[in-house]
Amino acid sequence: VAKRLEKFKTTIFTQMSMLAVKHGAINLGQGFPNFDGPDFVKEAAIQAIKGGKNQYARGYGVPDLNNAIAERFKKDTGLVVDPEKEITVTSGCTEAIAATILGLINPGDEVILFAPFYDSYEATLSMAGAKVKSITLRPPDFAAPIEELKSAISKNTRAILINTPHNPTGKIFTQEELNSIASLCIENDVLVFSDEVYDKLAFDMEHISPASLPGMFERTVTMNSLGKTFSLTGWKIGWAIAPPHLTWGLRQAHSFLTFATSTPMQSAAAAALRAPDSYFVELKRDYMAKRAILVEGLEAVGFKVFPSNGTYFVVVDHTPFGHKNDVAFCEYLIKEVGVVAIPTSVFYLNPEDGKNLVRFTFCKDEGTLRAAVERMKEKL
Ligand code: GLN
Repeated sequence: VAKRLEKFKTTIFTQMSMLAVKHGAINLGQGFPNFDGPDFVKEAAIQAIKGGKNQYARGYGVPDLNNAIAERFKKDTGLVVDPEKEITVTSGCTEAIAATILGLINPGDEVILFAPFYDSYEATLSMAGAKVKSITLRPPDFAAPIEELKSAISKNTRAILINTPHNPTGKIFTQEELNSIASLCIENDVLVFSDEVYDKLAFDMEHISPASLPGMFERTVTMNSLGKTFSLTGWKIGWAIAPPHLTWGLRQAHSFLTFATSTPMQSAAAAALRAPDSYFVELKRDYMAKRAILVEGLEAVGFKVFPSNGTYFVVVDHTPFGHKNDVAFCEYLIKEVGVVAIPTSVFYLNPEDGKNLVRFTFCKDEGTLRAAVERMKEKL
């Protein structure tokens, strides 16, 4: 394996899902729903395939999807963007992140992450030869330590990567935090790469897109995808919205990474994004009910549960159960209890910082969530 990837192991999600299968454990680890997306979206994909939309798509997106993304972004943020010059369709948000980093970051540039951070960020930054710095969000509220961020910014800082609502903590960045981050970015001429794939799962607080703050659109790449919002994580349709001077760089990387994304799935994605408002209201309501079941269950089991305001994840402190760290706890949980969670230490530059925390997902049907809680009540 190339040196730039030597330190990265099989992703924690793959490892844990394999163990779930091997031990017949209930998988509250990797974040994928155990139910399917809506029929009207699946039907649109079938019609697109039968209707002959099966050859290469336009590299930066099927026109109808670029338009649907622009319409949705306007509804959500009030921002009017040019679907031709400012939107690029990618193979999932993971590719949007990779294209953004590889297309806009030079070797030696510094990029700041908020830890715990989603694993692909660090690996992709490593492929780009970037220098990674991280600022730690700490329990109980995972507030953004703005003074630490200020000290971390140097003349070599090129970008700050924000993920809101935040995986794994369920934190939603507040207006105040985003305003402070925005001022720092403007003062220091720093870009924002904003991963907003859980924007429709913002439960107790409003989701704010950093690009919508004054002076920020011109320095922000906003990334999103279809997977979480439509329970279609296997479709891998994502996108990046950015002003033309940033879009140019990320499109160059996208052109040579994947060139284009699945044509019929893009057609169906356009139909999905035009879903009536009621779809988004129901999605949120269903997830809030699931969250309540899991959170109450985990508290009853004896965990210290940190509030999750968004995403389909919740982070807990496992130390009441006496295991030496998060990995040891998760191993015990799989083998002896039959439930899978994700150890969080892999989401920090220094794994020690995550040793007390594990992540559970509630993107499962209610029966599955209750069964997992029952197992933990019995055997933990
Ligand atoms: N985003 C999902 C999670 O955080 C997993 C994606 C993956 O398996 N790479 O659980």
